[in-house]
Amino acid sequence: QSAKPGGDTIFGKIIRGEIKTDFLYEDDQCVAFNDIAPQAPVHFLVVPKKPIVKLSDAEDADEQLLGHLLIVAKQVAKQRNLERGYRIIINDGAHGGQSVYHIHIHVLGGRQLGWPPG
Ligand code: 5GP
Repeated sequence: QSAKPGGDTIFGKIIRGEIKTDFLYEDDQCVAFNDIAPQAPVHFLVVPKKPIVKLSDAEDADEQLLGHLLIVAKQVAKQRNLERGYRIIINDGAHGGQSVYHIHIHVLGGRQLGWPPG
């Protein structure tokens, strides 16, 4: 894990402003931005500025931060008019399909989503 603030993944570069990305939301703890390859009409990510690698690496001290990410997710979902509902996903590790190793919450909505996912 990099010592750079925000970590050394593509999300670290986005958080640090090295890759220009429009933020749907930003505060001192996290940012939200649209996924580059949306899997639904609305698909955004909520990403903590702290570069936790994945959920399974989170510690007890991260409890407030992880709760905050969910509160931000539901606030941004409301701003995006997802009143008919949406899905929250956290992919963890290889079997979870995680591709960016900086923890993030996916929020998908704007269409009827199937269950179970593939
Ligand atoms: P994961 O598979 O790790 O749960 O999700 C990573 C997500 O990040 C993918 O949905 C992918 O499309 C998205 N993503 C990867 N690189 C970028 C990028 O440079 N910009 C944005 N906005 N999203 C990205």
